[in-house]
Amino acid sequence: MVITGHNITEKAEPLPAISMKWGGSLFPYMKNTMDQNVVDTLRRLAEDVIPIQSARIAAAVVFDGEIISFGTNHLRSHPFQAKYGKNEQSIFWHAETNAIYNALKRNKMDPLFLSFSDLYVVRIKRPSCRSKSFIYGLAAPCEGCRRCINDFKIGRTYFSTDEQTIECR
Ligand SMILES: [Zn+2]
Repeated sequence: MVITGHNITEKAEPLPAISMKWGGSLFPYMKNTMDQNVVDTLRRLAEDVIPIQSARIAAAVVFDGEIISFGTNHLRSHPFQAKYGKNEQSIFWHAETNAIYNALKRNKMDPLFLSFSDLYVVRIKRPSCRSKSFIYGLAAPCEGCRRCINDFKIGRTYFSTDEQTIECR
């Protein structure tokens, strides 16, 4: 998939490679390395997200090392998102639910394969309001997104943290 709309000249300094931190239980039979390329791709995608309450979040469903779908947070409501909102006011797409929906509907992924897929979630933020660069921010899925992740039995969820690491659950 080609990501369009990036203006190279406006792009901030690239973020450094991110390190890995484990949390939660692990399944030893599964691949236990996160994909730096997926993180880099999501970080670039998040740079183009129109921030909602300063949140710029991008997510991807990854199956067998390949990105199946992308999702971002955006100011549009949808019944799928409403089903997985953390409350009744939470009607705008979250990156995680958007990526899962796009895998199913846009890219026609069999729900069975979602259970063998991983979800990556990257949030970027400016270290200060005057800053032109970005750093990673905490992208731990909210309660509603966790319900969606559980419903589709997604394998692992990797997300960026305020400590500039990627955590896995
Ligand atoms: Zn959420």
